[in-house]
Amino acid sequence: MILDLSTFPANSNLMKQLNRSQVLNLIRNQGPVSKVQIAEVTKLTFPAVVNIITELSQRGIITESGYGHSVGGRKPVLLKFNPNFKYVIAVELELHHVKAMIVNLDAEPVAKGDIKIDPDSGSSTILNQVYKVIDEIIEVSGLSMDQIYGIGICSPGPVDHNQGVVLNAPMLKDWNNIPLRDMVAQRYGILTLLEKDANAAAIGELWFGAAKGKENVVNLIVNYGIGGGIIIDRRIYRGFYKGAGEIGHLTINMDGPQCSCGNQGCLEAYSSGVAIVRKIKEELQRGVETPYKEKYEQLGDELTLKCVTDAALDGDYLAINVIKDSARILAVGIANTIHYFSPESIILGGKLFAYYPKTLEIVKQHVKERVLDYFYDKISIIPSELGDNADIIGAASMVIEHLFDYSEQLLSGDPA
Ligand SMILES: [Zn+2]
Repeated sequence: MILDLSTFPANSNLMKQLNRSQVLNLIRNQGPVSKVQIAEVTKLTFPAVVNIITELSQRGIITESGYGHSVGGRKPVLLKFNPNFKYVIAVELELHHVKAMIVNLDAEPVAKGDIKIDPDSGSSTILNQVYKVIDEIIEVSGLSMDQIYGIGICSPGPVDHNQGVVLNAPMLKDWNNIPLRDMVAQRYGILTLLEKDANAAAIGELWFGAAKGKENVVNLIVNYGIGGGIIIDRRIYRGFYKGAGEIGHLTINMDGPQCSCGNQGCLEAYSSGVAIVRKIKEELQRGVETPYKEKYEQLGDELTLKCVTDAALDGDYLAINVIKDSARILAVGIANTIHYFSPESIILGGKLFAYYPKTLEIVKQHVKERVLDYFYDKISIIPSELGDNADIIGAASMVIEHLFDYSEQLLSGDPA
């Protein structure tokens, strides 16, 4: 893991922190391991390893896990990470729901909550519902606040991660410039982090999903819009101010259809759920014949992406062709992204791939045609592993990431 050294205070005992992080990450990722193995891999001296292990054991962060093979003499004690040492609260703000979970440090849930919200009810009502769902899951979990390390929140963007402010969530009424991070942090008195949903999903895949163990990946989500999250050297790449990763607004055709952002011909205007539904309606208006015509027309404004993908699964050639065309154009956006970032993997998630999994193969075939030959075979284009849970697991993951980066926080307070 590459640590962001710029964020460490200049007067801290940097080497000690780095050594501790290195040992802890090794035990977490490769445990159970012995002290000798840790010294071999980290190149730290054996006494230094013993000191760190003693410190981590006293706090309950690591525990013993049986004995390894002896190479002469006593069998070595093996050490493993204790994922129940601390817990994390994850909150996902959506258009119609606030979801929350408490998970351990392996992202295993111990309590879950879900409150329906009315997007038109205004920011103070929605904020109270955020508090309510957090209060409920804390109570259900039976945990005390000192067992909970922090709260991770993801929200529709754009989000100012540094300031902890939701700048604007156009679909939620009055949800502009909300200092959500500090409001939640003040109420609960623990570390709170805020991230936009697409970035959180990428962080979730990195820690617990399809990107686990990878360094450079792009996570692309096709729902009613198209969101992206870029991971470079195991870190989310946010870019300047409102954040990078707006792959849905790559221009595919400068004279193309109107996009929700005000521009023309964006990827989202061709390949998102909204674009697919709109294209079906346009084709029907143009007089394209399909046995499903009556069904589509009956649905009218109720026609959703799910209706279209169900029709495609049922063999409707109009739905199949519209999805194929959208996937072909999506592949253009992905090929552009690959040429920019050269990631190890592109991870594809969201409703389009979940409802109609064949889309993945269509996309892969067209990306192959467009990406420079010499490295296409090395790049994997793979489905999301976390699916609909990517955002909320990501909200938890960013807090877990913080804890492993700043391992001195694990050692604060009284020993367990
Ligand atoms: Zn756009």
